[in-house]
Amino acid sequence: MKQTLNWQIAAVKDIRQETANVKSFTLTLPGWMRHRAGQHYDIRLTAEDGYQAQRSYSIASEPEREGEVDITVERISDGEVSAYLHDVLVPGDRIEARGPIGGYFVWEASMDEPLLLVAGGSGVVPLMSMIRHRAAAGAKNPTSLLYSSRNFGDVIYYDELEKLHSSSQGIQVFHALTRSQPADWKGYARRIDQDMLKEVVQPLGRSVQVFICGPTLLVESAANALVEIGVNSNQIRTERFGPTGG
Ligand SMILES: Cc1cc2nc3c(=O)[nH]c(=O)nc-3n(C[C@H](O)[C@H](O)[C@H](O)COP(=O)(O)OP(=O)(O)OC[C@H]3O[C@@H](n4cnc5c(N)ncnc54)[C@H](O)[C@@H]3O)c2cc1C
Repeated sequence: MKQTLNWQIAAVKDIRQETANVKSFTLTLPGWMRHRAGQHYDIRLTAEDGYQAQRSYSIASEPEREGEVDITVERISDGEVSAYLHDVLVPGDRIEARGPIGGYFVWEASMDEPLLLVAGGSGVVPLMSMIRHRAAAGAKNPTSLLYSSRNFGDVIYYDELEKLHSSSQGIQVFHALTRSQPADWKGYARRIDQDMLKEVVQPLGRSVQVFICGPTLLVESAANALVEIGVNSNQIRTERFGPTGG
């Protein structure tokens, strides 16, 4: 019988500022269950008058960490839930959480094909869980992350990604900055396009598995471009960070 996930009361253990608009939250979960990298939690807020708002947030941490998960949230101006999490929540607070959820956009270290991860903005969050899981499990499959951000200051997890890139763990990180670039910028300086995807995907070979996450337009154009390059659509998994809840 399929297990139903219940709401549980998570404790906010830690809050870290990642960029000007992005924070990570470590949540301690009394009913913690090992997740699969790529899954998400639903977070529910209840006002004193009983009004409820619920949104999905991908798990950023690796499944090897027991008892807690990290979520990483971009503050959307006027956003009901993201603004609350950023502006009101402090360590020690409690919030309702339900998860882990999702069975399609997931990667396990036992999948040993080469891996291409394509992210736009906060779409990097579930891919970071995959990258952290890969590192924790000691997986050696060739892996590339192509990550599009507006400006350098908007890049989430930059230092951690640089460290992994310069380690000998077989992971390459390619950044694309679409709006402005630092003077000495050596990465891409445009939106993700077909030429860029070709450069990044071809060294990974024909059996590459692709995960794309971010705003709908980026996800669709990257997936279409990869199919045109010759990647089989059944090797591409996508997740769109559109508005959730209601
Ligand atoms: C499976 C899944 C996983 C997700 N994981 C993450 C995550 O890891 N980190 C994260 O920050 N977000 C994530 N999201 C998006 C998140 O669920 C919320 O939609 C987002 O935080 C906005 O909620 P809000 O209540 O702050 O804004 P709302 O009050 O719902 O919306 C306020 C305004 O912002 C617009 N808006 C809503 N969502 C977005 C958006 N994502 N981008 C741009 N404009 C938007 C709305 O159309 C509206 O005009 C995920 C979404 C899905 C479906």
